[in-house]
Amino acid sequence: MEWDFLIIGGGIAGASAAAALSSLGSVVLWEAETAFGTHASGRSAALFEESYGLPPVVALNRASRQAHAEASWLTPRGLMLVGLAGQEAAFDADLAGMQMEPLALDAAKARVPILSDAVTRVAWHADAFDLDTDAMIQSGLRAANLAETDRRVEALTPVEGGWLAVAGGAQVTARHVINAAGPWADEIAGLAGVQPLGLRPYRRSMARIAAPGGADVRDWPMMLGVGESWYAKPDAGALIVSPAEEDAHPPADVWADDMVLAEGLARYQEAVTEPVTRPLATWAGLRSFTPDRCLAIGASERDGFWWCAGQGGYGFQTAPAAAAHLADCIAGRASPLDRGVVAALDPGRFR
Ligand SMILES: Cc1cc2nc3c(=O)[nH]c(=O)nc-3n(C[C@H](O)[C@H](O)[C@H](O)COP(=O)(O)OP(=O)(O)OC[C@H]3O[C@@H](n4cnc5c(N)ncnc54)[C@H](O)[C@@H]3O)c2cc1C
Repeated sequence: MEWDFLIIGGGIAGASAAAALSSLGSVVLWEAETAFGTHASGRSAALFEESYGLPPVVALNRASRQAHAEASWLTPRGLMLVGLAGQEAAFDADLAGMQMEPLALDAAKARVPILSDAVTRVAWHADAFDLDTDAMIQSGLRAANLAETDRRVEALTPVEGGWLAVAGGAQVTARHVINAAGPWADEIAGLAGVQPLGLRPYRRSMARIAAPGGADVRDWPMMLGVGESWYAKPDAGALIVSPAEEDAHPPADVWADDMVLAEGLARYQEAVTEPVTRPLATWAGLRSFTPDRCLAIGASERDGFWWCAGQGGYGFQTAPAAAAHLADCIAGRASPLDRGVVAALDPGRFR
C-alpha cells in the first residue's frame, strides 16, 4: 500500500482526523473542491458552547476543551439567552438545559445596549468561546503528509490489504479509508459498498450585517433567541445573524434562502432597537446529522473503511475528541470516553 490512511474530505472532520492519525502512519487527504473548508467548515458560526447538543455530544465538547485551550483556539465570547414576553416557559427550559444564570435587564443592556423593550428575560454565562476555525483546519492539514484539492473520489475498490481510490486522473492505495465527506458521506459509503447511515443534511443560513448603530460590538456576547429561534454574534467588527433554521436539503453547495433569512432577521429585530439594513453578505451551509443526532465515529462493516461523519452543528467544538476517538478505534486502543458515549458514537448502531 502506498499510504496508511486516505482521508476523504477537507473540512474540519478530515483535517482533525489527519492530525490525530498522523502519529499512526502516513496520511493523504483528498478534497473534491478547489479549496479546503469550502462547505460547512467554511460557513460556521465558530462557537464553542460546551452544553450544546445531546449528552454524548456534550461529552465530546467537554473532552475537546483542553485541546482547544492548549492550541489557543479559544477566545472568550460569552452567551446571552434573550426572551420576549410570552416566551417564559421556553426561556426556563433553555435556562435549565444550558446552565445559565438569569441576568437583570439593566445589566444585560450594559453588555448589549441595543436590547429592545420587548426583551423581558435574559440569562447569561461567560463559558462560551469563539473558535479559531481557520487555524484548526490549517493545523490538521499540515499534519497530513499530502493534502490535495480537486480530488473528487469517484471509485473505491477493496484490494489486498486495503483500498484503491480513484479521483479524476489520480489514484492511490491505502490500508485505511476515512470517510469525512460531510453531507456526502453516505454517497462515499455507497462507492465502497458500505451501508449508509441515513445522514440528514439540514441547511442553516447566515447574514452579516453592519455593526448596529455603528457600535463597537467586539465585546458583545453571542445572543441567542429562545428555543434557538435566531442567534447573533460579533464577527470582525460586524454581526452575523442566523435564523437558526433546520431545513432538509440534499448534499449540495447551498445558498441562503431569502425568505427564511428575512423571517429570521425579523425575529432578531424584535429583540433589538436598531433596524436591520441590507446585509453585507449572506451564505448557508449544511449541518449533517445522523438519525439520532450523535456523531458516527468508528468502524464500518467493511475492513479498513471508517466513519467520521454526522458532525451536525458541533463539528468544530467536538473535533479534537472525535478525531482522537477515531484514532483510538483504528489503533485498537481503549477510549478515555465513557462506555455509554463510545456506544452512542459507534456507527454500528445503524446496521
Ligand atoms: C451556519 C452554520 C453554523 C455553524 N456553527 C457552528 C459552531 O458555531 N460550532 C461548531 O462546532 N460547528 C458549527 N457548525 C457545524 C460545523 O460547521 C460542521 O459540523 C462541520 O463543518 C462539518 O465538517 P465536515 O468536515 O464534516 O463537513 P464539510 O465541511 O462539509 O466537509 C466535507 C468535505 O468533503 C468533501 N467531499 C465530499 N465528497 C467528496 C468526494 N467524493 N471526494 C473528496 N472530497 C469530498 C466536500 O467537498 C467537503 O469539503 C455550523 C454549521 C453551519 C452551516
